[in-house]
Amino acid sequence: MSEIFTQDLVKWLDENLKPHLYQDYAPNGLQVQGKSLIKKVILGVTASQALLEKAIEHRADAVIVHHGWFWKNEDVRIVGTKYQRLALAIRHEINVIGYHLPLDAHPEWGNNAQLAKVLDLQPFYDEQGLPQTCGKGGLVWTGSVASGELTLTELGVLISQRLEREPLLIGDKNKKIKKVAWCTGGAQGWFQDAIEAGADAYITGEASEQVFHLAQETGAAFISAGHHATERYGIQALGNALIDRFGIEALFVDIPNPV
Ligand SMILES: [Zn+2]
Repeated sequence: MSEIFTQDLVKWLDENLKPHLYQDYAPNGLQVQGKSLIKKVILGVTASQALLEKAIEHRADAVIVHHGWFWKNEDVRIVGTKYQRLALAIRHEINVIGYHLPLDAHPEWGNNAQLAKVLDLQPFYDEQGLPQTCGKGGLVWTGSVASGELTLTELGVLISQRLEREPLLIGDKNKKIKKVAWCTGGAQGWFQDAIEAGADAYITGEASEQVFHLAQETGAAFISAGHHATERYGIQALGNALIDRFGIEALFVDIPNPV
């Protein structure tokens, strides 16, 4: 069985995911130090207590997640659930490794790239082969539906089948959708950017009250397909990359979340 030093694994992850390119809401990379040698990792969307318990059950040496810990503006005190999670990780010497925006944006393993595969979206690429994005931060991808055109209802059916979760569809159900923009997770704030980029529909994970009015007043469709549901795929792609590159055990554990 293969193993790798924690510092070498994190170095490789940093080299590939390039966290220095992002102004993120949480630290990327190694967030809590654990064992110095890693044979097995558990991957998940969020470093919740439930995921840590799975990691302990599997005798994993690290958890690698999209939503790690220590978010900007959160209470810095180590009390309550934060203490419980941290104590569990430290007691079992589990490294907690998180990559947030770098794992949304990575051109191959990223949540946006992987969601496109799951939903048969065809990203637009520029001459350098990079995804054509819109909006501030360059995290919203643009592309077309694979079949060329779908009604909003048909796109909704496809999403519910692929993500196994009923999406919230806002807009004329018979509207023809050709060009789409998408950004996984809580990216409803970029709906306007998607509209300005000419998208017939914008797909993201969550919704806010004002997106309804924006959809009504512009005619663009808005689809909220689930924060968790849209962000399950990047971390799995990363896990497969770790298996290919290092031959360590890497297991994705889904902790279902209706949001
Ligand atoms: Zn997220």
